[in-house]
Amino acid sequence: MPRRPDPADLILRGTVVTMNTQREVIDDGAVAIAGNRIVGVGSRADVTADFPETTVAGRADDLVVPGYVNAHQHLTADRLVQSSIPDDLPPGESIFEWAVPTHAALTPDDDELTATLTLAEGLTNGITTTVEAGTVAHPSRVAAGARAIGARITLGMWGWDVEDGPFAAPPDEVIARQESLLAEDHGALITAWVTLVGHDLMSDALLTKASALARRETTGLTFHLSPTTGDVDAYLARTGRRPIEHLADLGVLGPEVLIAHGVHLSDSEVELITDSGTAVAACPWAYLRLGQGTSREFRHLDLWNRGGRLALGCDAENAGDAVDGLRAAALFAGLAKDVPVDPTRFGAHEAFELLTIRGAEAIGMADQIGSIEVGKQADLVVHDRTGPSWYPHAEDVVLQLVWGSDGRSVRDVWVAGEQVVADNRPTRVDLGELAPVAAEARRSLLDRAGVTPRPKWSSR
Ligand SMILES: [Zn+2]
Repeated sequence: MPRRPDPADLILRGTVVTMNTQREVIDDGAVAIAGNRIVGVGSRADVTADFPETTVAGRADDLVVPGYVNAHQHLTADRLVQSSIPDDLPPGESIFEWAVPTHAALTPDDDELTATLTLAEGLTNGITTTVEAGTVAHPSRVAAGARAIGARITLGMWGWDVEDGPFAAPPDEVIARQESLLAEDHGALITAWVTLVGHDLMSDALLTKASALARRETTGLTFHLSPTTGDVDAYLARTGRRPIEHLADLGVLGPEVLIAHGVHLSDSEVELITDSGTAVAACPWAYLRLGQGTSREFRHLDLWNRGGRLALGCDAENAGDAVDGLRAAALFAGLAKDVPVDPTRFGAHEAFELLTIRGAEAIGMADQIGSIEVGKQADLVVHDRTGPSWYPHAEDVVLQLVWGSDGRSVRDVWVAGEQVVADNRPTRVDLGELAPVAAEARRSLLDRAGVTPRPKWSSR
């Protein structure tokens, strides 16, 4: 007799985009959840026969997809000053005259609030897993925000040893802080990573110690590198080699490393990244928003063509802005066609892989998330296909989803089997209650940071 499956808590119905190895899409399909895991995937008839007692939720024309992966997201500061930093500043000014003073003035309450708000936007756009970018002053408060909203994150903190940056310290002190972060229990959905600011703002001593720590603790290491030519010039001046060549010489490239950006890479750097199994998070909206040259370079496509490990990121609310993985996926696919003037090699489906299973693989979590398969975590997103943009429904749901939709059609989201978004609103946090708190926190932060938004056009 076939073994009867254990009972399930809930069955979701709809067209299921599994992102399994065969990339199966199941029309009139269903997904069964028990506890925090997926226990059944298949046709609705089969799944409901396996779990006859279980409630079936959703509508026939729902689209059920794996939770999206956002592989580079600043969870502090930017949210409170979103759309405050002008978009016509020369390179560097937005960071050093706006972002850095703002970060330096953040309170622990600000950190928890910004993380909650940024993750709320991400979740309501279908992002269930977020890699924090490594600019956190009060990581336990960011963890509290993630727990409150119900998001899965990797968590880091400020890591740099430059002279006068906020929260900078000598290498051993930075490493000691990160060791204590790794030793803490932040909850089941939060994985501590080693995080450095990166660029040319980390000494060789700090980077090699951080690398050793990540390897010893079997966790991820992430940092920023080469979004502009600035890092290339700085490394050439300091070391005589390009950034990735220098990192290769230090022995710090490898599968545990996720480099944010990598816009400006030479051919040899592309090879060093792919040969070492190092992953890269591409944040295409940030590069366009900040005018960083990705539409000329677009080495992410070369990384892809060489079998590189890639993921997508949304970066920050003043660099890419919307925390919406589908927008990033569509832009990435467009660049991948336009830059080489070749629409045949990379499109919506490949971009959707980056947002799901390949993104999960790039951040080392593909055994748990990124596809809808029995045994994986129940991180699931339901797109409502009753809105005007969805009619009539196309045969190829991924084509329609990536090119014709965005996060606004997300209706319901589950993380580890818990529904954290219902009807496009977070279930665990009342955003209406947070709105006045955020408004006051924004005013206070701008005041303490000494930066004043200057709307370009006068208001009356
Ligand atoms: Zn960043």
